[in-house]
Order: sequence, then structure tokens, then C-alpha cells
Amino acid sequence: MNYDIVLVSAPLKADDTHLGLCPSLSNLTLGSYLSRQGASVRMFDPSVEMDTAGAAPNPFLKELAERCVEMKSRFLGISCLSPVDGKFGAVLAREVKKLKYELPVIMGGLWATTYAPQILEKLPEVDAVVKGPGELAMEALIKTPDGSIPAWDSAPGLIWRGGTNSEIRHYTVDLARPLDMSLLAKPESYDIMVYMSSRGCPYRCSFCSEPIMFPSYIDEPLDKVTADIKGFNAFNKSYFFWICDPLLGFNPGRVDELCNLLEPTPFHFLLETRVDVMKPAMVEQVARAGCQLIYFGLESGAFRSLVELKKCNDRAQFERYINGAKSLTEACARNGIIPMFGVMNPIPGDRKEDLDECFHFLEELVSISSGINPDLGLFLLPLQCRLDMGSPFQLNWPSLEARGMVRSRDEKNIFGDMFVTRTSSEVGYEEAEAFRDKVRSLWTPSRNAMKVLSQCWPRPYMEVDWE
Ligand code: SF4
Repeated sequence: MNYDIVLVSAPLKADDTHLGLCPSLSNLTLGSYLSRQGASVRMFDPSVEMDTAGAAPNPFLKELAERCVEMKSRFLGISCLSPVDGKFGAVLAREVKKLKYELPVIMGGLWATTYAPQILEKLPEVDAVVKGPGELAMEALIKTPDGSIPAWDSAPGLIWRGGTNSEIRHYTVDLARPLDMSLLAKPESYDIMVYMSSRGCPYRCSFCSEPIMFPSYIDEPLDKVTADIKGFNAFNKSYFFWICDPLLGFNPGRVDELCNLLEPTPFHFLLETRVDVMKPAMVEQVARAGCQLIYFGLESGAFRSLVELKKCNDRAQFERYINGAKSLTEACARNGIIPMFGVMNPIPGDRKEDLDECFHFLEELVSISSGINPDLGLFLLPLQCRLDMGSPFQLNWPSLEARGMVRSRDEKNIFGDMFVTRTSSEVGYEEAEAFRDKVRSLWTPSRNAMKVLSQCWPRPYMEVDWE
């Protein structure tokens, strides 16, 4: 065997060339852990190692399957973070098994975690699914002597055809390892590097399944973060950094540390946070270090909606929340950082008055931004309210349904997005679309904002039909 494991990701679309290419952070993180534990790992990224331009998905998949098998590994790991890359992984697994039935195919990632039993039931090509972080599970499997049947039951969180190891081990700092940059086959081909300097979230928003993977907040050790940023910088390329910590600013010390590390580099970056976590003073700090865009998971500006989403509990918290959004909009405008606000209304229970309240608040944000820095603009990103598996909304669906909510599909379609399509007797799909159009009409992105967006936003995944 050439490798213990090949980790393969779904390719990004070649035809959206105005957007950037980035490697799979989950494969790089898992691969780095395993390689630093002594495993031989091949991280295969078809976006940069194969010719994706004009590729029809089916012949492309066959060729990709051949490449995966040619690499002669003991295991094939396929990431399944979302329905789109999960679908791609499902079809890839099918093609791989046609070529080499005995190669164990293992899926992992958030989507695979939440649909593990259904994936095994519907996809005979997948041998096992890791629930939760994959480090310890894959390490245990790789320790199985070469040539023998994988010790499935030794792998924490693994579910396979015939058994389950239900001991999910959540991520702890002792599993942190500096990224192994040698796993990136063509680092010069990337435009964007996605990075996480912390993991997890202590909040429990009603629509979010993220805490299933990382239920509490953990800062990655500073020596790891330092080594990683130095490692990226050693490639001598001005990557756009996407810092995808869900809560940057939760630990103010981490903001200081990241800014100290990033300021001397040529990297520009975007970060993600909540409006009640980041403080305006931090905006000035991150602007100096090269931040150009901040994504705020605002979701709504209406009191009832924010309580339903569990973003706020009461009026006092709501006031802090919306004042936080306003002062951050102001700080962004003063420091030349483009704010992007995700807006999820209509959400369960929303009536027209909730949509109006949210819309007026968004108008206020636009007015604050344009009053201070008319050339900067901001992005308002309307999102459909999702019912991801394992999220509180999905788990409590029977009670939402009893209140009159309607959703786009049920849980049977394992690679289908579930959305709320009726939120009250007053707001159904058409009213929701009209609201999203109205929010879009408030957008005021400048030419510069559009340029920044095109530099920091990765291309979407190549899509395939899996059924
Ligand atoms: S939406 Fe963000 S803040 Fe809320 S639970 Fe998910 S990761 Fe945490």
C-alpha cells in the first residue's frame, strides 16, 4: 500500500472563475493530525489536481474514482459537510466500489454525522460513517494491522454496517496539531485559505446543528495557530484568509493574538462572528491587521424572531443585540470594513409585523453605513430558514407543525435541504420570497465591495445527481 488513507474532497466548479479556489480545511486538519501521528496520508483535491474546466460530472467522477484507487490506500475518507459535497461523495463512493470493492470507504463531517444511520441504509457503497470529529476514529482504524479486517469497534463515534461505537469523543486541545502544509499538493493554485483558530460554540440557536460537532468553545493553542499562519505565509502567496471561527471575539485575547500574527503578513482576511460577541473596538483592531469583510450572523432585527431563534431571551438582551449590530455597522463604516449580515426571516411563527420590524431595522443599518461611508456599502444576505438535521428546529418539528409551519420536505431525502416554507397563516413561500427580494433591494454594495467579495468567496461545489 502507498498510503494509509486518501482524503478526497468534492471539486469546486471550474466555470465560476471570478470566485476563488480553496482547499478543504476539514481534510487538511484531519490529515495533519493523522500524519503527525505517523500515518501516511494523501490529501487529494480534484479542484487543483484534475482538469475541471468544462468537465461533465459523470466522466469526471469515473476518472476521479480511478485516481483514488490508483493511489493504493488502505482507507478512502470522503468529506460530507453539506448535502452538496455529500451527494458528490456518494456518487464517488459508488464509482470507487465498482473498481475496488474491498477498499473501505468512510464518510465524515457534520452532514454525515447527522445522517449516519440513513447514509449506511441508503448507500451500500459507504462502509462506515464517523460521527463527530474524525481524529481518534481514523487513528484507531489506521492502527489496525495492514491486511486485516479494520477494527471498526475500536473507532470512537464510528457507525458501520453491523455495529456502532457510540462513544463520540469531542474535540479537545490535546488533539490539536500544527497543519501539515506538505499535504497541500498545489498550494500555489489556491486563492483562499479557510482557517479556524477556535472551535465550537456555547450558544444553541434554534436553526443550527453546528454544536453537535463542537458543543463548547475551545481556542486552538497559540503555538499551533502561530505555526499554521507561518506555514501559509511560507508559500509566498497573498491568500485571502477566511477565518471561520463562528465566534471571533468571544475571547478578546484570541483577537489580539490573531491580529499580531496576521498584521505582518500580506494576507487580507474575512471573519465571522455574532453582533453580540464582537465589540466595536475590535473592528478597528482587525482592520489594521488586514480584515476587509466581516460576516455577522444577525439573522433578524425583530424581537419575536430573535427570541424564537434563541438569539435573545428577553427585551434587555434584544436591546443589546440590536445596539451591537448598529455600533458594529458604524465601526465597520469608519474603518473601511464591509459588513455582511445574514438575514433569516421569515422564521417559524413570523407574521407580517415581524418582517416589517426586521426590514425597518435593516433600513436603519443601511442608513448608518451610508451616512458615515457612502462609498463602502454593506451586504444583506437573505437566507432561507433551514431545518438541518439535529438542529433544535428539526428536533422540535412536530410542535412547529402543530403551530401551522410547513416545510419543503421531510428527513427521508438525506441529501436534500429542508426549509421552512410557511411560518404563519400570513406568511407562506410567496410572502417569504417577496421579503427576500425586498431585502435584496436594500443592498448597497460598492464596486470595491463586489471586488472584495469576489476575492474572498470560494466557488461552489460541482453538483451531481446521485439517485
Ligand atoms: S448559529 Fe452561530 S452562534 Fe448560533 S449556535 Fe450556530 S455557531 Fe453558535
